[in-house]
Amino acid sequence: MSDRPNMHPESLMMSYGYRPELSEGAIKCPVFQTSTYVFRTAEEGKAFFEVAYGLREKGADEEMGLIYSRINHPGLEILQDRLTLWDAAESAAVFESGMAAITTTFLEFLRPGDVLLHSEQLYGGTDHFIRHVLPTFNIKAIPFPASATEEELMAIVEREGAGLAYVDGAEEGFGAEGAAAHGGARTSRSPVKMIYVETPANPTNTLVDIEMCVSVAKKLGGNNKERPIVAVDNTFLGPIWQHPLKLGADLVLYSATKYLGGHSDLIAGACLGSNELITRVKTMRTFLGTMAGPWTSWLLLRSLETLKLRMEQQLLNTKKVVEFLESHPAVISICYPGYESPKSKATARDMEVYARQCLAQGAMISFEVAGGEAEAFKVLNSLKMIKLAVSLGGTESLAEHPATMTHADVPLELKSRIGVTPGLVRLSVGVEHYSDIIEDLKSALGSI
Ligand code: PLP
Repeated sequence: MSDRPNMHPESLMMSYGYRPELSEGAIKCPVFQTSTYVFRTAEEGKAFFEVAYGLREKGADEEMGLIYSRINHPGLEILQDRLTLWDAAESAAVFESGMAAITTTFLEFLRPGDVLLHSEQLYGGTDHFIRHVLPTFNIKAIPFPASATEEELMAIVEREGAGLAYVDGAEEGFGAEGAAAHGGARTSRSPVKMIYVETPANPTNTLVDIEMCVSVAKKLGGNNKERPIVAVDNTFLGPIWQHPLKLGADLVLYSATKYLGGHSDLIAGACLGSNELITRVKTMRTFLGTMAGPWTSWLLLRSLETLKLRMEQQLLNTKKVVEFLESHPAVISICYPGYESPKSKATARDMEVYARQCLAQGAMISFEVAGGEAEAFKVLNSLKMIKLAVSLGGTESLAEHPATMTHADVPLELKSRIGVTPGLVRLSVGVEHYSDIIEDLKSALGSI
């Protein structure tokens, strides 16, 4: 929608994009639990399909109607419009899972022979798709450390043979004569077509420098008008605490299962960016059938109304919890973005990136207990209110053991390099009273 009222997103979350008069005056958008929509006339059906399939542009005064719920439905439309507000994105596409958002995006923008440059360590599902599925399409992946500087990243690209190569105009498809007409048309080209990062990185909270990735993408674009797309999985800080698009990224992705959904009762995903890129993502989504259904969309609309409230409370709680962990003798290190202390693992570079990139620290902490796996398990098994479960971003606090759970299939060498040690515990802080979270942790840590 282009006519955005001049209000804050939290004020618009209850109403933006919804017209009660179209739904019997219902104050909330109902669940449109229907697979298909009735056309008033055959001419109307024809007109809707012409626009939906891109056979012609929509007329200035033309109202697009609904066709079929895999293409579009009211809850999805309104949800997508509202989701754009936090990230100030032109457009959003919502999916039935975070993995659906990620894989649909990869399949739209990567082709055989292309290279995907990505930060490590990524969420396990994303990592699996990159390592086991993309190679079957002849798409190569080059990982780089989350903490890489521009020089380090460019060195990795060169070492892997994915830097700029100069291509003669004739090879570019201009033909010999065309190349001459293009002034000799020697163009520079890198096979890197996407830079994909997850920041903060899971579970160590290392920050990937988004602006640095944009700068590398520009260099790898050479003199081509198209440069590699920079896509950022912003699940950990969510659209309240980090805005990758404002830092120059092209796409921002979410597992909406986490903070956006926020109640551990749905699975969903999202991809946001310019109208041009998201139109491409939505077209691929239509043919893969990965869009969010009416019920998921309705649940997400409800959740977005309290997103800011929840994330602010979770942040306040987490600061108290970190303070407590800092003081506890059984905790030997803490990974929390933008946190400087004797136990913090943040480096000067992390602090500098944090200051440029993040609006707040979020509610994900990893901490290392003295000892190893046995001690970490003892703590996890002793928790009472905090639930022992993977996932994150819900109203309830969750704890897990990355080395044997979320990151179980990460090779040992990589685990130790990125700091996924046997004593590491990951905590997603919820909205409970902070003193109850701390009491639970205190008694669990007391068990070791
Ligand atoms: N990205 C991150 C950072 C995640 O943590 C997850 C899931 O845990 C995903 C993507 C995948 O999302 P989903 O489980 O909604 O498919």
